[in-house]
Amino acid sequence: MHIVVIGTGIVGVCSAAWLQRDGHRITFVSREPAGEACSFGNAGSLSPSACLPVGMPGMWKQVPGWLRDPEGPLTIAPSYLPFMAGWLLRFLRHSRPQEVVRIATALRSLLAPIFDSYGPLLEHAGAKDWVRRTGCLYVYGSPESARRWQWGMDLRRSLGVQLRDIGREELEALEPDLRGKFRFGILAPENGSTLDPSRLVKALHAQCVADGAQERLDEVTGFARQGDAVRGVRLASGETLACDGVVVAGGAWSGALTRELGLSVPLETQRGYHVTVQSSNLQLRHTVMASEYNLMVNPMASGLRLAGSVEFAGLRPPPNYRRADVLLKKGQEMFPHLDTTRTTQWMGHRPCLPDSLPVIGRAPRLANAWLAFGHGHLGMCGGASTGREIAHLVAGRPTQVDLTPFRPDRF
Ligand SMILES: Cc1cc2nc3c(=O)[nH]c(=O)nc-3n(C[C@H](O)[C@H](O)[C@H](O)COP(=O)(O)OP(=O)(O)OC[C@H]3O[C@@H](n4cnc5c(N)ncnc54)[C@H](O)[C@@H]3O)c2cc1C
Repeated sequence: MHIVVIGTGIVGVCSAAWLQRDGHRITFVSREPAGEACSFGNAGSLSPSACLPVGMPGMWKQVPGWLRDPEGPLTIAPSYLPFMAGWLLRFLRHSRPQEVVRIATALRSLLAPIFDSYGPLLEHAGAKDWVRRTGCLYVYGSPESARRWQWGMDLRRSLGVQLRDIGREELEALEPDLRGKFRFGILAPENGSTLDPSRLVKALHAQCVADGAQERLDEVTGFARQGDAVRGVRLASGETLACDGVVVAGGAWSGALTRELGLSVPLETQRGYHVTVQSSNLQLRHTVMASEYNLMVNPMASGLRLAGSVEFAGLRPPPNYRRADVLLKKGQEMFPHLDTTRTTQWMGHRPCLPDSLPVIGRAPRLANAWLAFGHGHLGMCGGASTGREIAHLVAGRPTQVDLTPFRPDRF
């Protein structure tokens, strides 16, 4: 089939790569070059352990304090609140313990095969060097403070995630740069990360093009439909691109596209930020998640990346780089000796559904439109597995992951 893949972030590119392996002809349509939207500047963590939803039991009690704190991990633009109050209520409903267990079970099924599903794509694209499996360290000021997160860690363990508690001495031996602030850690040895998410996406995309994919830098404005089939994709330039099928992988912008296909999904953007410390003098080897600081730290090709923050303000307003300044300040608290003379900042739109699960499936009432978006904080982790499942769906093969929790019409 000739399949148009909308979006050249990690999800669109992995979907195309898996579809090509079944012999399909691909045309990408994207507003910008591959790996430039949310897949550009994320923290690059590839974590089979990252199976917990964003909304956790009891979190609602912390929300008012976070919102009052200008340096807190969460902010909501006051003018935006009326537009997303309903979304927030749904989000809170999905943070009840039973729901969290259900969601974590589903996420684990998608994330456990991360490296199996990336493997063939990286091998074929000669991009194996962009991924390493050095493990992730969850770090805490003390064993007592780690107890706040214990319920979630126990849930991870119950789902088969390998985690090992490590005391102060071993932590300091593993990562001397963590000395001083952190006295307890949990090592997730199976985790990995990418040295540069954008370059990883670009490498996979370049291989798709080398294998015959076409690309149009344009905006999709709608679809030409006939009965239950999509026959073409309408572009802002006025042209309609004929196709035998379409995959919507438009990240945080997928809501408008999906509405054109007759389905409404509660997709929100959680804007997140990074600071990359190019002048970093640290020798970190692991990805580090410091929950007390709400900060993910990853040593990358371009420097030390400090990433995090959740900002609800919609797709249009420009970045508020005070959020990135807060990340840098927290990084300096964690690593007082960090050389911060050269830094870059970035903001990206995480595509988020209120249950923290992506949408993966065929659009209801359409024979040849597949949806793959809404990966929230986990698009790098889930991109390749999603692509593989999309290829199974297009081929009519049984899926490897039970996709019931990811159904597009679940809302
Ligand atoms: C600060 C931060 C840290 C993060 N850290 C991690 C992490 O460590 N690990 C992890 O797994 N995830 C992480 N994420 C999340 C991850 O970055 C996203 O889930 C992922 O990049 C989403 O990929 P995507 O392909 O769905 O969307 P994107 O990369 O945003 O791509 C969307 C594509 O769709 C195109 N598009 C949209 N609408 C249209 C249209 N109408 N016409 C044409 N093209 C269109 C865009 O041009 C773009 O090419 C983080 C995110 C942030 C913000």
